[in-house]
Amino acid sequence: MTDETPIAHPGTPPSDCALCPRLVAYRAEQQARHATWWNAPVPPLGDAAAWMAIVGLAPGLKGANRTGKPFHGDEAGKLLFGTLAELGLASETPEAWDAPGLFITNAVACAPPGNLPDTGEKHACRPYLAQQLAALPNLKVVVALGETAHQAAIKAIGGKLPKYRFGHGVAHKLPSGITLVDSYHCSRLNINTGLLTPEMFKAALVAAVALAAG
Ligand code: SF4
Repeated sequence: MTDETPIAHPGTPPSDCALCPRLVAYRAEQQARHATWWNAPVPPLGDAAAWMAIVGLAPGLKGANRTGKPFHGDEAGKLLFGTLAELGLASETPEAWDAPGLFITNAVACAPPGNLPDTGEKHACRPYLAQQLAALPNLKVVVALGETAHQAAIKAIGGKLPKYRFGHGVAHKLPSGITLVDSYHCSRLNINTGLLTPEMFKAALVAAVALAAG
């Protein structure tokens, strides 16, 4: 994955997607306030050969919603890409991150107020995620960052939710053969409250890499 290369990956939402009125209104509000920001559905980063997908919650207002790239421009992205770099899965170029073989996206493509998409918004955006993941023939493992991503990934890949309960570090083998690994979201809030430590986050990613290799 070279994130400076524009991707027209299947399941990329149109930049004017209007399925979620509340998020469209929020987008318009941000466009008026910050004319230079991305302020549109954030497309995934990755390529058709990805073996691991990382699914987050939704673009951070001042992160991906500003830069137009998932996990770029905020503290969550620093921890994510920093950990991937530690594991030899990503490298930082002067302009951007390079993470070959990885695919990075969100359960909800538009920034929600307070970082909290509602149930209808999660439902509306799920077909995009399903298309994105279905278009990765080499996909072996999906890392879900937080419970919303966990639920979205299971429904997108094909599995029954009650069978698979979210738990940090828990791995779920889904009927499709893809393994889902859960982690608490690498948000600054979770780090600051101690719910997630960088070591816990790294351990979940190490487990995902091992499961993909095994
Ligand atoms: S969150 Fe997804 S479904 Fe809703 S408006 Fe944005 S791109 Fe469309």
